[in-house]
Amino acid sequence: METEIVVVGGGIAGASAAFHLASHGRRVVLLERGEIASAASGQNMGGIDSYGWGDAPDLQAHLTAGSIEIFEAVQTDHGEDIEFRRSGGLQAIRTAEEYEFERDRVETLRKRGQVAELITTREASGIEPGFSPALLGALYAPRRGQADPVKATQAFARLAERRGGRVLTHREVRAITPRADGGYAVRTSEDEIAAGALVIAAGAWCGPVGAMLDLDIPIVPVRGQMWATAPLEPRVFQTISAAESAMAWARDHGGAPPDLTHRDGRRVTRHLYGRQRRNGEIIFGGDRELIGYEATPNSAGIEVNREHAISVLPLLAKFPIARTWAGLMPFPLDGKPLIGRVPGRDNLWIVTGLASSGFGRGPMAGKLLADYLHTGTPAPVLSGADPAGRVRELARR
Ligand SMILES: Cc1cc2nc3c(=O)[nH]c(=O)nc-3n(C[C@H](O)[C@H](O)[C@H](O)COP(=O)(O)OP(=O)(O)OC[C@H]3O[C@@H](n4cnc5c(N)ncnc54)[C@H](O)[C@@H]3O)c2cc1C
Repeated sequence: METEIVVVGGGIAGASAAFHLASHGRRVVLLERGEIASAASGQNMGGIDSYGWGDAPDLQAHLTAGSIEIFEAVQTDHGEDIEFRRSGGLQAIRTAEEYEFERDRVETLRKRGQVAELITTREASGIEPGFSPALLGALYAPRRGQADPVKATQAFARLAERRGGRVLTHREVRAITPRADGGYAVRTSEDEIAAGALVIAAGAWCGPVGAMLDLDIPIVPVRGQMWATAPLEPRVFQTISAAESAMAWARDHGGAPPDLTHRDGRRVTRHLYGRQRRNGEIIFGGDRELIGYEATPNSAGIEVNREHAISVLPLLAKFPIARTWAGLMPFPLDGKPLIGRVPGRDNLWIVTGLASSGFGRGPMAGKLLADYLHTGTPAPVLSGADPAGRVRELARR
């Protein structure tokens, strides 16, 4: 088989890149070793961050505010029911110190023209009736949203196909060989594909895929885990989080990669995010641990997370855990996404490093990559995600 562009990885980043490349009229083949959304993009909580574009949007504003607009368009304009809604988000404040921290954050966001508000516990209860009266208040982010991870990621792949792209599942990429004409021979578990250009979008597996090209891609797998109640009638309306970890990570990023809940096996902070799905399950998660490609849930961490969730929404104490799961997030060692052209190589591109918020940022990451590949010119904000100096040649033994 021969094509213009091969995208490796059928998560949200690869599926969005394929959709936007196909929308530019490019001949694209998306290769996924399992099903579309079988890794992190289907296992995540489905939270979509956004404080709006603001007055001078940086990369983070592009990725968040841009993505939420794309999700909305997929739901409302492209006829794909991905369970998207602009739910709004509440970040629970537990201590006076957290209150001060969140007050400063709101001030900074507002100076940038972004949208966030500090509200009282009473006001929070008006938006989220289960909100604990013992809390000190909340940061309210009305632009936040949520969607179903599997449905949304599969929708991007379907839209890519509708625009002429090909989506091949159960095609594991096993070897990649540069060709004399600047393209690549991609050997999969089934066949060999000749591609003019290659996009690496393999999430937590970018390291092994890069090694096929003798490249050192600075991405490590970080385990995130979740739990769910049985389906319940509607009780949780916002996307819920807590200020504790935001404050901890603002004070100490904690090494490489930054913003983990555990260091050397020891907990450094609790982290929390959750929502109620349309099927009625209330789902929560938070831990981020660097333990290699280990992706089974850890019950002690799940219990800490459940207690944290109960402290924000006491109603959860009544409902036992019905199921748990875990997945691997692509964490960049320096904390910055990798979106763009790989220097020193012909026609090689990458979109990854979206870490713990890649579901909510993936649609725009894929679009920025596709627009750059198609036009040859990067959006100025992509200077903050440039692979140059970060993706390196693998040291030869
Ligand atoms: C428990 C959990 C909760 C999370 N909650 C949120 C949240 O609420 N909001 C949010 O924004 N983000 C969240 N995230 C993070 C988010 O899920 C990820 O950042 C995002 O899904 C990464 O997308 P991706 O496309 O880069 O990677 P992936 O989804 O991992 O996709 C990469 C794909 O590449 C495929 N692949 C790898 N190697 C090969 C190969 N050799 N050949 C073919 N295919 C290959 C894999 O099978 C995989 O499907 C969460 C993650 C987890 C684990």
